Amino acid sequence: SQYVYRFGGGVSDGGKGDKNLLGGKGANLAEMASIGLPVPPGFTISTEFCQVYYDEGRAFPQGLRDEVAKGIAHIEGITGKTFGDAADPLLVSVRSGARASMPGMMDTVLNLGLNDETVKGLAETSGDARFAWDSYRRFIQMYSDVVLELDHGAFEEALEIAKEDRGYYLDTELTADDLQALVAEYKALVEKQWDKPFPQDVHDQLWGAVGAVFGSWQSERAKVYRRLNDIPAAWGTAVNVQAMVFGNMGDTSATGVAFTRDPAKGDRAYYGEFLINAQGEDVVAGIRTPQYLTVAAREAAGAKPASMEEAMPEVYGELAKVFDLLETHYRDMQDIEFTVQQGKLWMLQTRSGKRTAKAALKIAVDMAEEGLITREEAVSRVEPQALDQLLHPTLDPKAIRDVLTKGLPASPGAASGMAVFDSDTAEKRAAAGESVILIRTETSPEDIHGMHAAKGILTARGGMTSHAAVVARGMGRPCVSGAGSIAIDAKAGVMRVAGREIRAGHIVTIDGTTGEVMAGAVPTVQPELSGDFGTLMTWADGVRRLKVRANAETPLDAKVAREFGAEGIGLCRTEHMFFDAARITAVRQMILAEDEAGRRVALDRLLPEQRADFIQLFEVMAGLPVTIRLLDPPLHEFLPHEEAEFAEVAKAAGVDVDVLKRRAAELHEFNPMLGHRGCRLGVTYPEIYEMQARAIFEAAVEVAAKSGDAPIPEVMIPLVGTRRELELMKQVVDKAAQAVFADMGRTIEYLVGTMIELPRAALMAGEIAEIGEFFSFGTNDLTQTTLGVSRDDAARFLTTYVERGIYAKDPFVSLDVEGVGQLIELAAERGRASRPGIKLGICGEHGGDPASIAFCEATGLDYVSASPYRVPIARLAAAQAAL
Ligand code: ADP
Ligand code: MG
Ligand code: MG
Repeated sequence: SQYVYRFGGGVSDGGKGDKNLLGGKGANLAEMASIGLPVPPGFTISTEFCQVYYDEGRAFPQGLRDEVAKGIAHIEGITGKTFGDAADPLLVSVRSGARASMPGMMDTVLNLGLNDETVKGLAETSGDARFAWDSYRRFIQMYSDVVLELDHGAFEEALEIAKEDRGYYLDTELTADDLQALVAEYKALVEKQWDKPFPQDVHDQLWGAVGAVFGSWQSERAKVYRRLNDIPAAWGTAVNVQAMVFGNMGDTSATGVAFTRDPAKGDRAYYGEFLINAQGEDVVAGIRTPQYLTVAAREAAGAKPASMEEAMPEVYGELAKVFDLLETHYRDMQDIEFTVQQGKLWMLQTRSGKRTAKAALKIAVDMAEEGLITREEAVSRVEPQALDQLLHPTLDPKAIRDVLTKGLPASPGAASGMAVFDSDTAEKRAAAGESVILIRTETSPEDIHGMHAAKGILTARGGMTSHAAVVARGMGRPCVSGAGSIAIDAKAGVMRVAGREIRAGHIVTIDGTTGEVMAGAVPTVQPELSGDFGTLMTWADGVRRLKVRANAETPLDAKVAREFGAEGIGLCRTEHMFFDAARITAVRQMILAEDEAGRRVALDRLLPEQRADFIQLFEVMAGLPVTIRLLDPPLHEFLPHEEAEFAEVAKAAGVDVDVLKRRAAELHEFNPMLGHRGCRLGVTYPEIYEMQARAIFEAAVEVAAKSGDAPIPEVMIPLVGTRRELELMKQVVDKAAQAVFADMGRTIEYLVGTMIELPRAALMAGEIAEIGEFFSFGTNDLTQTTLGVSRDDAARFLTTYVERGIYAKDPFVSLDVEGVGQLIELAAERGRASRPGIKLGICGEHGGDPASIAFCEATGLDYVSASPYRVPIARLAAAQAAL
């Protein structure tokens, strides 16, 4: 089979449709070449080979070697240079590129093909010895790091010392002689660390680099990144080999990265950074402070160094045209890498740019209004999960801020937490439940776990496109980067700024929207949702079939849910109302009562309280369906623990403390999750469900009378496994309803149904639907009971399970469609067969998970129910599922 695909010089063996085969980078390089953009020629070794590479024990079969030789010949033919030729050498970059972009995760080697001979040829042909030696020292440094895996600190140190010795500040001040001397030092370092001289054979160099790129697919940091971003290990990476172009050939050369629109706010303005006389990595590595692309951006930032628009007006004009062309061609905002070699522009990469949720909304709405994409496309462009960033609190504008300094607003949102100076500690502290702000001079891919664990990220160096900024935006973490006035001593665990000291553990706040860094915690408020949010949600609602409800018990949650567009309540967990301090004693009295009479005394106390709760809830949800689950958890969850609590209950119930304690001990269960809970409580103590049903109907009638807009209670019986259970419980509920309607002289509509949360219930759904008027899939318990995995104990092994590919995702976060999904499909089918049109919904955590929502759409459920803050996410995901 074919593994090598060429691009450049009028040839494109692939195109943008070939991402799976060529990786994103390779496919887009081929595409750019095919639409006539200036792309240095090269070839891509396909992702298919990645699997072969691992299967063959990390070796290269002869067939591949032959194909690569042809690929090299292709580049040589176009550039007129020869790989390894001492007089006029061809240099290449070896670049990774997976299907999904994994910024900074995989390794790249530049300037490959240099050795002690070719460096002289490069100096000759370019007429620039400094450039040649600079390229050689960069190559050795990168190759030693990425391919030979030597300690890169030693190389950086040698470079620093070389500058210091000569009193230089910038890398660019090093002369050809300085660099030549540095190369000698580097080579000595390699020999010392590797016991072998730096490889001089350019083909050895090439295969070493190709192997390193394929090898990096299984690196620890790539694995972590894949896990966090749900990228399957089987995808593999491609390798791109491409003729070098040089941004480090003096002041008419440069390198840069750009976005066709602002990736933070979404404004329609070119956005980016560039560096004169530099090579690719320099911009993102934060080696020098990059310059702005446009005059407008430079002025807005109050920066001095000339923008590209000013320093290189012609090339800038050309670049701006390319931006527009790429945006129309790809019909999306693009993230671009370019290099200018002696006044000539070269395109090195394009891809759909990562953006904040705010920018995603604005860009989608703008592009639809510009006519570039349709409204449906706009709806499909915004990742539902990303909305999470917008729905959470920002700093209270009225709060006092103790501002320490200001950096770049690299990723929006605000966060407070304890200062932490390394990623391992960040991870540990976060796991212990603390909010942390990760503070680093700059971040690297090794910090990925710490960044994920942190509530926010602060760096002293690096621009808007630095590693920290890009990764934080992708993760939705607030980030302030390049806060140059802070000095960080990570070892000592201290940061100094504005004459003050922040030590590890001190609380700091960052505002990634303004760039401010503050001492102490700052209170937050709900953000105002932008007009774009409303517009896109309206478009989404226009295509959505699934209804979206919320899981809510309190009037406050219910209000938030309605503001976010909830169309009812899908799960009101009545036991949450029982924990209230004012009524817990009555609840305990009920639980610990010896007999029905004792329980009824306590229930009579609870009835008015519970009714008052429902009245408030129904007022918020007037006219909408409200699913109320009757008492579900094992009773012992409510038991007193402390002496004083026992005393209080004893007093209220008028019994002896010792009697209470004995009764509490009797309630102990070995496996409460499968014990005396759910409808089993209702079967053994029907008076509990009777009281709850009464409270529901009294409240509903009262609200209906007051507002004329009756809620539609859907009384839900939990943990049903048999038809008879539901039948008995429905009798209790119906009897209570009739009694209330008779007493109050008014009837309202209601339904009685059940949760499907036991495999038996799913299997017997046909029979159960003869009684139940609706089903709500309680997928938290259904997952537990189907997998035989306790949700509360799964943390110890589930991560390993996901890492080892046993489950693709945490089945408690994203529905196990293959397994649990079958039970849902089967229950839906059998339920509909015996009660056509039976109302079906889902109320587990999964109701807010986009992948699970797509499954619910496919199964034809009527609604999903999610926590209030996830309601907009569910609305958008439901729309995307319907498209
Ligand atoms: P990453 O995925 O980390 O961005 P890339 O393969 O895109 O890795 O390359 C790293 C840097 O090197 C980028 O700035 C890129 O523009 C630059 N680069 C890659 N190939 C070449 C080349 N052939 N000529 C000049 N610069 C290059
Ligand atoms: Mg890289
Ligand atoms: Mg790149």
